[in-house]
Amino acid sequence: MSIKNRISIINGEIKDNAELIVVSKTRSVEEIVQAYDQGHKKFGENRVHEIVEKHNILPKDIEWHMIGHLQKNKVKYISEFISLIHSLDRLSLAKEIDKNAEKQNRSLDCLIQIKISKEETKYGLNPIELDSFYNDLKEFKNIKIVGLMAMATFTNDQDLIAEEFKEMKRLFKKMKTINSNFKILSIGMSDDYKLAIKNGSNMIRVGSKIFGKRNY
Ligand SMILES: *Cc1c(COP(=O)(O)O)cnc(C)c1O
Repeated sequence: MSIKNRISIINGEIKDNAELIVVSKTRSVEEIVQAYDQGHKKFGENRVHEIVEKHNILPKDIEWHMIGHLQKNKVKYISEFISLIHSLDRLSLAKEIDKNAEKQNRSLDCLIQIKISKEETKYGLNPIELDSFYNDLKEFKNIKIVGLMAMATFTNDQDLIAEEFKEMKRLFKKMKTINSNFKILSIGMSDDYKLAIKNGSNMIRVGSKIFGKRNY
C-alpha cells in the first residue's frame, strides 16, 4: 500500500477528532514529498539537524513540529520556522526558547511534555510538578503554552497504556480550566493512536504505520 493510501486511511479513522502529524524522522525527502503531494502539510521530526535540512529543501508551506528531546544550544536553528515544539520539559529550555523567539520577533507555541511512563529513559516533566512549572513559565512572554504531550510506556499492555492516557486526559482537562490557550493534547503513535483518541487525544503523531518500520 502507498504512503498516500495509508495517510487517507488514518485520516478516515480519526475524522475530525484529531489532527494527524506525520512523523517523518529518518525518512527521505522523496517519501515526505509523497505525503505532501496528496495534501498533507504537517510533519514531525525529532532531530534538529534533520528538521533544518528538510525545512531548507522542502516547500515552505509545510508545518514542522519538533517532537523529540530538544537541546538548549540547538533552539536557535529552529526558532525561525518551527510551528510547534512538543517537548518543552524544563525551565532552562523555556528560557532559551523565549530568548530565541524574541530575537525572531515571534511567539512560539509549545506543548509541555509530561513523563507519564514509569520507564527511566523517557524525557518529560513529572506530572506532580506541572502546576509550579506552568506558573514559572508565565515570565516568558514569547512562549505560548497550547497544550500537553506525552508518550505512553513501550508495552503491549493495553490497560497500562489506557491508564496513562486517562491520566493525561485528566491533566489536560484541569489545565484547560485555568488557561483557555490549552487546546492540544498530543498523545498517540502508530500502535496506540486509537486508544489515545478514545482518551481525549486531538493530535496524533504517526510514523511507522505510514512509512513502514524504521531501521533505527
Ligand atoms: C518516533 C516518534 C513517534 C512516531 O512513532 P511511530 O511508532 O513510528 O508512529 C511519535 N512521537 C515521538 C515523540 C516519536 O519520537
